[in-house]
Amino acid sequence: TDASPVLLEVRNVTRRFGELVAVDDVSFTVTEGQVFGIAGPNGSGKSTLFNVITGIPFPPSSGAVLLRGEEIQRLRPHQISRAGILRTFQKDAEFYTLTAFENVYTSAVYCGGAVGADARRDSMQALEDVALADDRRDRPVSELSVFERKQLMIASAIAGRPKVLLLDEPAAGLTRPEVTQLADLIRTVHRRGITIVLIEHVLPLLLSVSEHLMVLNQGAVIASGTPKDVVRMPQVVEAYLGK
Ligand code: ADP
Ligand code: MG
Repeated sequence: TDASPVLLEVRNVTRRFGELVAVDDVSFTVTEGQVFGIAGPNGSGKSTLFNVITGIPFPPSSGAVLLRGEEIQRLRPHQISRAGILRTFQKDAEFYTLTAFENVYTSAVYCGGAVGADARRDSMQALEDVALADDRRDRPVSELSVFERKQLMIASAIAGRPKVLLLDEPAAGLTRPEVTQLADLIRTVHRRGITIVLIEHVLPLLLSVSEHLMVLNQGAVIASGTPKDVVRMPQVVEAYLGK
């Protein structure tokens, strides 16, 4: 994918909370069609990076975020999602009293910009993609299992027609066999032509799906390269084991 055009660029992005520099002058590029992995110890600024890319709930303190070369860091969050950047959250962000279908449909309409029959078709297709198109589509989210909620999270993302999808620790709370199923779901999204940025604590998952791996520590990039090379770098080993 090295020859592919750059889809997402983060350029010298910093986010401060008072004295704390949660994201410290971070720069990277994600090419079209890539699965770009992000690792780093707890509190290293991974989720904050997703927050400032999507503007949810806040923009960067300084620096630029570009989608296909256009600066987006001053856009409102809904404009950023309509432009093609969607994210998932570490905690469930579904509407619990709505059914699975209604959740996906909401995303098709508000993130994907689809209307009427198109929104319905996109929603059904997305539910089929994650194997949730049976009677479970009419159940409220509160009745779905942990893994079914992950399927729903992925379906909602696909229905929103993102160009790039930011996944924040999607494997949290899953059993080992479920993590393997999740890897298949992520590959399903990727096959839809969606570029993926994946934050993940479960390293086998991160290493099995990522083509490129970046490691953060205390808000700063400490390593970036192929997963195979990065996991052997002394500063990475130190960041994980030296705590
Ligand atoms: P990670 O996702 O890598 O575990 P986070 O991005 O959640 O790390 O947090 C990075 C640092 O920024 C942490 O020290 C965290 O306490 C701090 N932080 C995150 N969000 C806020 C906020 N809204 N206000 C103040 N501090 C924050
Ligand atoms: Mg986090």
